[in-house]
Amino acid sequence: MKIRENVNLSELTTMRLGGPTDFLIEIDTPEEISDAVEFAEEKNLPVYFLGAGANVIGLDEGFPGIIIKNNIKGFKILRENKNQLLLKVGGGEIWDDFVEFVSKKGYSGVEAMSKIPGTVGAAPVQNIGAYGQEVKDTLVSVEAFDTLIDEFIEIPASKMDFSYRHSIFNSGKDKGRYFILTCTFRLDKKNPEPPFYKSLQSYLDEHKISAYTPETIRDAVSNIRAEKLPDPKKIPSAGSFFKNIYLDASSAKLAEEKGVPIRKTEKLDASGKKYIEYKVNTGWLLENAGLKGKTFHGFKVSDKAALILINESATSSKDLELAKQEITDQVKKKFGLTLEQEPVEIKEEKPETNKVQKEDIS
Ligand SMILES: Cc1cc2nc3c(=O)[nH]c(=O)nc-3n(C[C@H](O)[C@H](O)[C@H](O)COP(=O)(O)OP(=O)(O)OC[C@H]3O[C@@H](n4cnc5c(N)ncnc54)[C@H](O)[C@@H]3O)c2cc1C
Repeated sequence: MKIRENVNLSELTTMRLGGPTDFLIEIDTPEEISDAVEFAEEKNLPVYFLGAGANVIGLDEGFPGIIIKNNIKGFKILRENKNQLLLKVGGGEIWDDFVEFVSKKGYSGVEAMSKIPGTVGAAPVQNIGAYGQEVKDTLVSVEAFDTLIDEFIEIPASKMDFSYRHSIFNSGKDKGRYFILTCTFRLDKKNPEPPFYKSLQSYLDEHKISAYTPETIRDAVSNIRAEKLPDPKKIPSAGSFFKNIYLDASSAKLAEEKGVPIRKTEKLDASGKKYIEYKVNTGWLLENAGLKGKTFHGFKVSDKAALILINESATSSKDLELAKQEITDQVKKKFGLTLEQEPVEIKEEKPETNKVQKEDIS
């Protein structure tokens, strides 16, 4: 394991903000995580788990503690037949390298999530998704280190309580408890089938692409994204800064009265009961509040994809807070809806149960 002292969070995050952390530990093998956690316990410092820093915000005060960064690599085929692939992937692998690997082999399930920045290990944390696919649809399980009982465990996807940008890893009493070491995916040997997302279908039609394979869809999505999304290596951002909004029927009606388009989709809940999902496209709200292309305290609401805040010149997380406040106030005033931030701040995450209760759990 590699240890560095006094590393700025701005170096570790794609939004390029944040003061120093006491230690940065990079984990190359699953075994090293227990050494890193032991190191933190000896120093009595909190830990924060990090991947490529594409969905986090570093604060000016930094992180007084230890950042543990996942660098565990490797692809291991557990089972492969003419219909399916069961693949275990190191959590430190780049997500898009995994998508490329399986799409090239003709397996479907993740091709619409091509070019999402970040690591494989972070993908289940907010249940990443794009163009109609989500990680929850292909993830089978993860191997993790449980910092509460200091043990390696396997968590099946059915226990992860997945929904839009939500899982047990980023919400509730177990937030920050598990370090994800590897992820196992089940992918089907088949071609993706329409209906596709509107913008994806338009691209396919425009380019006269009618042979839908994991690779052609991957290429289409990659090209669409290259057109409108900032490359985190060149342009600082944390991707979508605000989440889309899901409403109940009565709030959806109120929003509709203010002119907000609501996408209604029939869905099935966990018990198989039908319900209507009411979704507001937050990009539409920002655009129609006249904010697209405007700059607030050094952050620009992208003129290509309004959900994205680009860090043009800011160096302080306080400026981000001010920008966020002004943007949310304007949307609230115009449409009566409250925006919620997607990227998380790097600060201590305390699972609700602490180590004293270890005996009760094991
Ligand atoms: C330009 C751009 C476009 C984007 N587009 C999309 C998109 O289309 N769809 C989408 O869903 N997201 C998108 N994102 C957000 C981001 O790519 C994803 O959230 C991605 O999963 C972040 O991966 P990461 O490795 O950078 O995680 P980080 O940002 O490093 O961490 C994110 C969270 O996961 C936790 N975490 C990280 N690694 C581990 C681990 N091994 N174990 C436990 N917890 C861990 C962290 O503590 C943190 O809470 C975009 C971001 C950018 C910059």
